[in-house]
Amino acid sequence: MNKNIVNRRHFLKMSASVAGIVLAPEIAAAAEGKKGLPRRTLGKTGIQLPVLSMGVSSNHLPVLRAAYNSGVIHFDTANGYQNGKTEEMLGDFFAGKPRDSFILSTKIYEKDRQRLAQGFAEKFETSMKRLKTDYVDILYYHDVRAVDEVNCQPILDVMLKLKKEGRVKYIGVSTHSNEAEVIHTMLDNGNYDVALAAYNFNQHHSAQLDAAFERAVKAGMGIIGMKAMAGGFLDKEHTQKINGKAALKWVLQNPQITTVLAGCTSFDELDECLEASNNSQLTGKEKEYLAAVNRRTLLYCQGCRVCTAQCPHHLPVPDLMRAYMYHYGYKNPAMAHETVMGLSLPDHPCGQCAKCTVTCTAGFQVAKKIKDIARIRETPGELMA
Ligand code: SF4
Ligand code: SF4
Repeated sequence: MNKNIVNRRHFLKMSASVAGIVLAPEIAAAAEGKKGLPRRTLGKTGIQLPVLSMGVSSNHLPVLRAAYNSGVIHFDTANGYQNGKTEEMLGDFFAGKPRDSFILSTKIYEKDRQRLAQGFAEKFETSMKRLKTDYVDILYYHDVRAVDEVNCQPILDVMLKLKKEGRVKYIGVSTHSNEAEVIHTMLDNGNYDVALAAYNFNQHHSAQLDAAFERAVKAGMGIIGMKAMAGGFLDKEHTQKINGKAALKWVLQNPQITTVLAGCTSFDELDECLEASNNSQLTGKEKEYLAAVNRRTLLYCQGCRVCTAQCPHHLPVPDLMRAYMYHYGYKNPAMAHETVMGLSLPDHPCGQCAKCTVTCTAGFQVAKKIKDIARIRETPGELMA
């Protein structure tokens, strides 16, 4: 392994273990030299972002601090993560730091879209209190998958008003299902500045996504990637981790992607991401590795929604598969719990079927996975952190 990386890992671990006692973040940042990760411009917003950003969905403060000290400046969260505790953690972390030294984005979500439209402004105010800031740089309507959601005028009206007031610099949507159509609709709509989209080496529809990104970039819309690790692990038992360096490099090979949200929860993962960000050229071995992995069934749900029409009991199979990936792939039971608890499920999902009629395009045995993930409802949310 590269000696500098080993040294940096040692430094990061040290800075985390003694942070706030010996090394203030500013001192640590100076020591690290804010080496300057490569930057790209986020469309017409003009924001120059390091190619690596942090998707903060759980409360790993030492890793967050290490990322900041390593030159990451863009941190993204959502109102529902850890029941709002993640927004609170970010608010505490950035309190007292110059506001122009970091880029903050959050996403507003509620499963019931009608209630979301009515309560969007209120939810934003709650997020602002937690984040302890006067403005967020990017505000997203979260988990958008349909044309009518992109064009939801009541939500757009609130976002545009907040933008006019300067409480939000730019607006966008986040999407991990039907992403290409969502982005084309955003462009037709004309009001959006940024799209946050799932993008990774394992997607079957990457050609459609590339075409949507190309059109977006030409129109000046910024594109931010997420779900780069395609599930994180190859197996439910966590014995085979996906090579994060190769996965991140694959995304960064596309110059249309300004930056990638990485959900690092350990120093090793952060190190992998920093290394890939500083040199995003895929090696021959990494290309071979990704091709071999792509021949297998991963934990990543394509979000294609083919299964929804095949299930006679109308189970939200893609959402359940995404929750499964959060739990068994990304090791984030809180996010899995939050996702499952937001769904309307019968007491015994799949209990009425002698044989499952769903043929998943990713090769999942969905009934078996649903049985595994639905059990998460039996555990109280507060035990999931
Ligand atoms: S077993 Fe298959 S078809 Fe039946 S409810 Fe479950 S997912 Fe739907
Ligand atoms: S068919 Fe499979 S990959 Fe496609 S959305 Fe359904 S579960 Fe996901």
